[in-house]
Amino acid sequence: MSLISRSRYLAAGSLSALTLAAAMASGSVFAESVTQEMINNDHLHTDRVTSYGMGPHGQRYSTLDHINRETVSDLTPAWAFSFGGELQRGQESQTLVHNGKIFVTGSYSRLWALDVQTGRLLWSYSHRLPDGISPCCDVVNRGPAIYDDLVIFGTLDAQLVALDMETGRVRWRDTIADYRAGYSYTAAPMIANDLLITGNSGGEFGAVGEVQARNPRNGEIVWTRPVVEGHTGKLPGGEESVTGTTNASWEGSAWEQGGGAPWLGGTYDPELNLIYIGTGNPAPWNAHSRPGDNLYTSTTLALDADTGEIKWHYQTTPNDHWDYDGVNELVLFDMELDNGTVIKAGAKADRNGFFYVLDRTNGRFLSGDAFVDNITWAERIDSDGRPVETGNRPGNPAETEGDRGESVTVAPAFLGGKNWNHMSYSQRTGLFYIPSNEWEMEIWNEPVTYRRGAAYLGAGFTIKPIYDDKVGVLRAFDPKTGQVKWEAPNPTPLWASVMTTAGGLVFTGTPEGYLKAFDDETGEVLWQFQTGSGVVGQPVTWEMDGEQYISVVSGWGGAVPLWGGEIGPLVRHISQGGMLWVFKLHNGGHVASR
Ligand code: CA
Repeated sequence: MSLISRSRYLAAGSLSALTLAAAMASGSVFAESVTQEMINNDHLHTDRVTSYGMGPHGQRYSTLDHINRETVSDLTPAWAFSFGGELQRGQESQTLVHNGKIFVTGSYSRLWALDVQTGRLLWSYSHRLPDGISPCCDVVNRGPAIYDDLVIFGTLDAQLVALDMETGRVRWRDTIADYRAGYSYTAAPMIANDLLITGNSGGEFGAVGEVQARNPRNGEIVWTRPVVEGHTGKLPGGEESVTGTTNASWEGSAWEQGGGAPWLGGTYDPELNLIYIGTGNPAPWNAHSRPGDNLYTSTTLALDADTGEIKWHYQTTPNDHWDYDGVNELVLFDMELDNGTVIKAGAKADRNGFFYVLDRTNGRFLSGDAFVDNITWAERIDSDGRPVETGNRPGNPAETEGDRGESVTVAPAFLGGKNWNHMSYSQRTGLFYIPSNEWEMEIWNEPVTYRRGAAYLGAGFTIKPIYDDKVGVLRAFDPKTGQVKWEAPNPTPLWASVMTTAGGLVFTGTPEGYLKAFDDETGEVLWQFQTGSGVVGQPVTWEMDGEQYISVVSGWGGAVPLWGGEIGPLVRHISQGGMLWVFKLHNGGHVASR
């Protein structure tokens, strides 16, 4: 045994003894396995984070208030962990905390398990990626899922890997789709109805979107549901069924490479047993080649978690011509009207610039209001929930001389009024906190033919700033009135998720490298910390030994530096990175100290 492996062995041995002692001292069950019930109630348990979105409703709200408007100025690093190596690209991951461990994923399909008390590395997994992967928008990963005694995450070559939570040993692997056909995977998988739920990426390559449900213990498929009309899915037991009615909203054979990639993951209502998932742009971007609404692209779907069947759909951008992927999360919340009626609602801040409130039991449209200042593709959303378009679509290249159709300038830009980075709903204020961006684009269409594994756009584009002094705007938005209550501008695009707490705080990060805490009522910055690289991750919080902790990953990247066009010079100076930061109050922050 070499010196290094011996010291590792000794470290592992002493760790087990310590963890066991800690577990016995606190009276907790050693290596408690993760159950669906635990995940369904994640938002009620402050001592762990077992789900993406800090609860199946995806509110990213914590009832913890040790860190609050009075104490937040004492927030200081507890420890930090470097992802190491040379593979530092965008770090968009959300951590999970369970059994004394914190699980975090990083760029290039890597995963680490750390001691949550100290940040010490327990084990790690680095996926061997083949040549020829096709991630459209950086080599990111948004986080793992945990279930039973497994940590499960997806990789850039569209694989799933399930690892033993204690040892990091691979327990099973499976393939979501063929990476050689342009499929990839960057989302965090979701656990719902004791199933492992995944979508896929690849909408820029003509990949067809599909939601898959597996037994999380062994990876066996239970059901699949393609999200483009005409494709065939599997029901439990192996029976097949076609999605929608073939050619009802697509002409000819355009649906066959129709896109719709549900690349972000979803939310779940355990009571209704519905999975809510958004679908991406139809393919190709050139909409002249695919007349019709193109169901179910740029849509929010409600799927029966038992069978995968579509219970309802709400399409935000019919015949999407601008890459307004409708993947944005539907955040589930109970909306109390002035007459006392409580509506089981869901809210979505769409890439197309409108904030939608739906009845999540049946998909009924309740409201649609702009959450950005500049929308030029549609005037408004009508009372039936359909956009009233301005006619601002790129011209048909078939009607012009040469290869390029007439170009138009449209807002928002294709990266959206809000992109993947999640908003948060505060139960304290009843407001949503939206990481929005103000930008526009010049866009034109070109002829395009599908070729397996190749980009399938039929469009050219340049993103442009609208204002001299800001792109990003953090907005507090009232879902009942459709009004912005306050806004906090940022010079560069916001690309980090948001978290709110009962302490009256709103946390999010900036490309400039800061994790910031805002007053949830005024938008005033009460605290900020420079992490050393751009923050495009997802803050979470938990409680441990009577103290409140906050984590976020730092590491600049994602779609903006790759596709940002004229935004590029604003972010060119930002250093790469790969670091998990964990914070707590420096005086211990016990409740009694307030
Ligand atoms: Ca897209």
